[in-house]
Amino acid sequence: MTDRPTITEAARETPVFKKTDVLVVGGGPAGTAASATAARMGADVTVIERYGHLGGMSTGGFVPYIEKMTDWRGRRVIAGFAEEILDRMPREHVLGPDPELWGSKDPKLNEYWRDRSNSHFGTITWSPTIDPEWLKIVSSDILRERGVKQLLHSWAVAPIMEGKTVKGAIFESKSGRQAILADVVIDASGDGDIFAMAGAPFEGDILGDDIHHKINVAFLLGGVDMQRFFDFRREHSDEFQAIMKAGHDTGLESDSVPHTMPRNDVALFMGPRLSGYSHIDVEDLTAVEIESRDRMQVVTEWYKDNMPGFEEAWIQTTAPQMGTRHSRRLMGVKKVLREDWTGGLVHDDEIGISTPPNPRNPNVSIPLGALMPREVEGIIAAGRDLSCDPATHSFLRLIPQCWLMGQAAAAAAVTSINQGVNVRDVNVTEVRNQLFSQGVVLHKQTGTEQGLTMEPGVDVPEGVARPGQEAAH
Ligand SMILES: Cc1cc2nc3c(=O)[nH]c(=O)nc-3n(C[C@H](O)[C@H](O)[C@H](O)COP(=O)(O)OP(=O)(O)OC[C@H]3O[C@@H](n4cnc5c(N)ncnc54)[C@H](O)[C@@H]3O)c2cc1C
Repeated sequence: MTDRPTITEAARETPVFKKTDVLVVGGGPAGTAASATAARMGADVTVIERYGHLGGMSTGGFVPYIEKMTDWRGRRVIAGFAEEILDRMPREHVLGPDPELWGSKDPKLNEYWRDRSNSHFGTITWSPTIDPEWLKIVSSDILRERGVKQLLHSWAVAPIMEGKTVKGAIFESKSGRQAILADVVIDASGDGDIFAMAGAPFEGDILGDDIHHKINVAFLLGGVDMQRFFDFRREHSDEFQAIMKAGHDTGLESDSVPHTMPRNDVALFMGPRLSGYSHIDVEDLTAVEIESRDRMQVVTEWYKDNMPGFEEAWIQTTAPQMGTRHSRRLMGVKKVLREDWTGGLVHDDEIGISTPPNPRNPNVSIPLGALMPREVEGIIAAGRDLSCDPATHSFLRLIPQCWLMGQAAAAAAVTSINQGVNVRDVNVTEVRNQLFSQGVVLHKQTGTEQGLTMEPGVDVPEGVARPGQEAAH
């Protein structure tokens, strides 16, 4: 891009669409949680989303697996908005175990729930699979009920700056180019579009052996019988392995595997995953779309020809949103580092707790500082563009964690507006009290409204409290 010639655009008058307290850019998991939370706290909220629906990757990217919200002992550590939105989903569109099974190590139960993405490392977790269309509906309903101004089909293209302070954003849509002025902007674009353009430093390094850099266009096959597939895989394991090996020997990619959906007659494929492309490069995005469609046909034909349960499969639809795990990460006031959470560090500005990626590690404390730009004012990040190292990003980018961070960013934004201070200077204790009162699980800390004592490095349950519910579940 840099060596291309440039033109100078004419200066222009841009109409102000509205003035709002909190402007949320991006209506993915983080942006939806942020919008809902800020409105719940009484703010006037506007959300700008480039697609025609809310939910981001979790709906438009066909990522229906809401990862672990229970820890390895079966206690719910991610709640708050995450709990609220899932409770709003019709039960038949949420495939997951009932609470009494959370934490179970029963082999038979784990076998069943492993096929359905709710068992990891021999433990049943609360990691439901949801119907993306229903998540769109429920997300929009919540925002409508709370009076959030939703601007769909709207693309935020630039921050409005006053010196080093973000004062809103310019967006483009079929109605043209317009401005929204805001007291605080929450960048929930996943890619840090607004904080990057505002001049906040960011990074994008990855671990070579991680799937961070891979992007894909997910697709659904209809007309399948997933129960038959699962039964075959389990009861004829040798035959299944032989079929797969023959496939791999003739070029079927190892990530071309069917995943479960809430319905038995639909299978989700989240690959082939492509490497070497950038999610923030338009030519790369175009290339991945085109190549993925070629590869999807090959995968579909192979499954139809070879796999029990797939004889009648047909390409039902492809994801409207490119599946990307990673692009920009904020370089924030704090950076969550692997050695911090493996060592059990509890941050004094903790705004939530994440399940660790495996049972070897303690639960993970997420600091507010990971959402705060170091230099630019008036803006806070939320979601997968948080400040952390690549190893940490591999799980803090997950949907429940993005809900959690969106909720926290909104609590910080509205609290700072109420206090009349920059969002970076917000009173953290007040933010934590807000989150606690909204059902967010936090480690105990001195000086909170609840008067609890922090126990650094201690795993839950001793360190966890929720209103009316001492231990998480
Ligand atoms: C293939 C794949 C598999 C995954 N598997 C899992 C899994 O099993 N479980 C799990 O929990 N998570 C999984 N994830 C991760 C998870 O889906 C994402 O990290 C999460 O959705 C990020 O949420 P977010 O709100 O930060 O960003 P996004 O979901 O990316 O949402 C950002 C939103 O902002 C909008 N936007 C972006 N830029 C602009 C702009 N300039 N103007 C207006 N709108 C804009 C986008 O359209 C989008 O709706 C997976 C991701 C991928 C790609």
